[in-house]
Amino acid sequence: MNKLDELVEHWVRPEIRALSAYHVQPATGLIKLDAMENPYTWPAELRDDWAALLRAIDVNRYPDPSATALRERLAEAMAVPAGMRLLLGNGSDELIQMIAMSLAGPSRSLLSVDPGFVMYRMIATFCGLRYVGVPLRADDFGIDLPAVLQALEAQQPAVVFLAYPNNPTGNLFDEQAVLEIIRAAPGLVVIDEAYAPFTEASFMARLGEFDNLVVMRTVSKMGLAGLRLGLLAGSPAWLDEFDKVRLPYNINVLTQASADLALRNKAVFDRQTESIRIERERLAGALCRLDGVRVYPSQANFILMRTPPGQATDWFEGLRARGVLVKTLHGVHPLLEDCLRPTVGKPEENDALLAALSEIAA
Ligand SMILES: *Cc1c(COP(=O)(O)O)cnc(C)c1O
Repeated sequence: MNKLDELVEHWVRPEIRALSAYHVQPATGLIKLDAMENPYTWPAELRDDWAALLRAIDVNRYPDPSATALRERLAEAMAVPAGMRLLLGNGSDELIQMIAMSLAGPSRSLLSVDPGFVMYRMIATFCGLRYVGVPLRADDFGIDLPAVLQALEAQQPAVVFLAYPNNPTGNLFDEQAVLEIIRAAPGLVVIDEAYAPFTEASFMARLGEFDNLVVMRTVSKMGLAGLRLGLLAGSPAWLDEFDKVRLPYNINVLTQASADLALRNKAVFDRQTESIRIERERLAGALCRLDGVRVYPSQANFILMRTPPGQATDWFEGLRARGVLVKTLHGVHPLLEDCLRPTVGKPEENDALLAALSEIAA
């Protein structure tokens, strides 16, 4: 081993060396249905307003450190209950990290369900929290409530993360099961509502009912993924502590101004997410008609599907060869054997996906 490798091996924490970096697949020239993005961009008039707004910004100055105007706009747009505070992150990923940093300590753990959002496990590892993943039910990806309650009792996790709807499975967990988990958890429970624009279900209105509940949202899936903006809503008692680990000026001036403009025009994005919801139903119906394919119910902007046994990799490659990029989950978790996860795109993109799949399946 050379000197450089020795140095790195000696000093980088073993649990970091054991990780593989978050991988983003190349998408140039492909129909991009792999990352839960909103396929629609901004209408021309809104782009003009946006350009005018950005032209007036002085980037030599630091941004508003607490993004007060944007927080007020978000509180209104997301119906955050009175008396609750908002903490903003550079994407909700950064909020997960702030929570984990604030709660980490020797012998402490973060509990979630598997298969779930991969960043919970990765960030737990970065921050030195033991990750406890309780398997979902194999048949429908529902919460195995007795198993979660038992793990809560045995592990006493500092924090529980639940994505509602769940990623990568797309389903909404049973509301009563989630409530039981909130009541039984010894520490904090974070309900991650990244897919709120695609479902009616939410715990936002119930924030005041539980001392240990906070709700996380993001503007990424509604159509602003490039801005990197997430929000955590909860009582000041929790959020004022998490705010102490936030790096100063974490929400840049361009994001503050752009998100504010977008939220003043929220109707534009509501129309886009509404058409994605309509397309989701059409796409799910058409996927169901493919021979040997199982489609799982989705309340998000993607659909989890299972190919016939042993076919997922061929189908994934076959789609890419036909110009369509989806996410393959085969090999990610035992319960996701043969699974692919296309994001719902524009009607013509979904048609391209369906045409390619019927060729491949034939
Ligand atoms: C996409 C996603 C996020 C991350 O959102 P960003 O705000 O873009 O960082 C968080 N949680 C879940 C469940 C997601 O699917």
